[in-house]
Amino acid sequence: MEFRQLAEIYSRCEKTAGRLEMTDIISDFLKNIDDADLWQVILFLRGTPFPSWEQAELGISDKLMNKVISQVSGVSDVKLIEKIRDVGDIGQVAEEVLVNKSQTTLFSQALTVEKVASTMRRMVTLVGKGSQDKKLAYISELLSNASALESRFLVRLILGQLRIGVGDGVIRDSIAKAFEVEPTLVESAYNMRPDWGVIAQISKNEGAAGLLSLGLELGKPVKVMLAQKAKGLNVAIEELGEVVIEYKYDGARVQIHKDGNSIRLFTRRLEEVTKQFPEIVETCVEKIKVDNCVIEGEIVAYDVVDRRPLPFQNLSRRIKRKYDIKSLAEKIPVEVNLFDMIYSGGKALVDLPFNVRRAKLIESVIESDIVRLAESIVTSNIDEASEFYRRSLDLGHEGVMLKVLDAPYKPGSRVGYMYKVKPVMESLDLVVTGATWGEGRRAQWLGSYLLSVYDSESGSFLEIGRMATGLTD
Ligand code: AMP
Repeated sequence: MEFRQLAEIYSRCEKTAGRLEMTDIISDFLKNIDDADLWQVILFLRGTPFPSWEQAELGISDKLMNKVISQVSGVSDVKLIEKIRDVGDIGQVAEEVLVNKSQTTLFSQALTVEKVASTMRRMVTLVGKGSQDKKLAYISELLSNASALESRFLVRLILGQLRIGVGDGVIRDSIAKAFEVEPTLVESAYNMRPDWGVIAQISKNEGAAGLLSLGLELGKPVKVMLAQKAKGLNVAIEELGEVVIEYKYDGARVQIHKDGNSIRLFTRRLEEVTKQFPEIVETCVEKIKVDNCVIEGEIVAYDVVDRRPLPFQNLSRRIKRKYDIKSLAEKIPVEVNLFDMIYSGGKALVDLPFNVRRAKLIESVIESDIVRLAESIVTSNIDEASEFYRRSLDLGHEGVMLKVLDAPYKPGSRVGYMYKVKPVMESLDLVVTGATWGEGRRAQWLGSYLLSVYDSESGSFLEIGRMATGLTD
């Protein structure tokens, strides 16, 4: 498929504020895409060249992109920066300055979706010395062959700033409409296999029956089941009766996929973090006794001296780290506390009650210093529950989780099978002290507010974070 067709769809979506209209545009478009292109086109529509779990990054900064646009268009770097500051959108500027170029290129070839995707894949493999220059050459080649409109979106796609307003909901509804299947069915299939391209292919070729029978694929993350907030420990126990209560660890949720001796770790956002936690990988190979399984837990960083959990920021450093992983692992050791098993011995366990899944988990794991089972009790007694809650907080954990004994596992849903109880944080009085510009089609609007607390000692405002403006189209 020609990239031009996709760029036209981007452009139409960008000019459309209405969700329904956008769904119409995309569903009509999807109906006519060949099977070979469907998977990639859907990823591109969502604004990402690769699936989240591939850990593939193009690594192109705005600065480098300016340099390429400048080279291809002949407009100076300084002028480009000025223009971008005025317009607020690098894609629009690229379109403007590359108009003349595209009219004068003699040997340009029409860009295809396949060409753009394979060039991006090649860029990901480039590392080390000289890689920036090679990436620059690849982008330059793409832009030289692109029309002005294509450039507008290519630039934004490469920078990860597509922002045309096509979210998961629009993709779900467009697939449903294009291939005549129920949106709820599309969504539940997606939660099990969070890959819109695959979901579109199955919807197209196998319809509802294909979506219904879609299972988990070992080695690809599943959307995790989410917790609801309990009204309070006592109220929740009164309502639910006997429950499993576990410590609520303050770390990062991890989904562990074990296929023979191969272990892969995914976050709740479906990103792969296997390389970042070699000690967990090693221990899982040894301590998880089932060959093909998916287990969930919470990774926590702990203090070497007293083994109390460390604030999330420490773990976050481990997650973000790309090099010297071993040395950081020594400084910030982690453990994983396992609490659910959703696949075992090649079979999905999601429809089994939680207490059965948990029993299977306990059977399948040999506990060690690094891989542990989440601390838990089973009770309907409020005093016992309160005591457990207090102990959890005393040990430095975040609170407790209450889990319904006979509940199945619903990927991606916040269905009331699992409740969280944690102390209410003190509220803070904050002042808006600044704002940032939005991007893409919100370039002329404020994107987020900067929030500050007043520091009476210094008499000044200390910035502590930002908040989205909440302004929709
Ligand atoms: P919250 O992020 O506040 O919505 O709380 C839900 C999160 O708590 C889950 O996604 C897990 O990452 C985390 N968590 C910590 N301990 C547990 C546990 N024992 N069971 C389930 N989730 C837990």
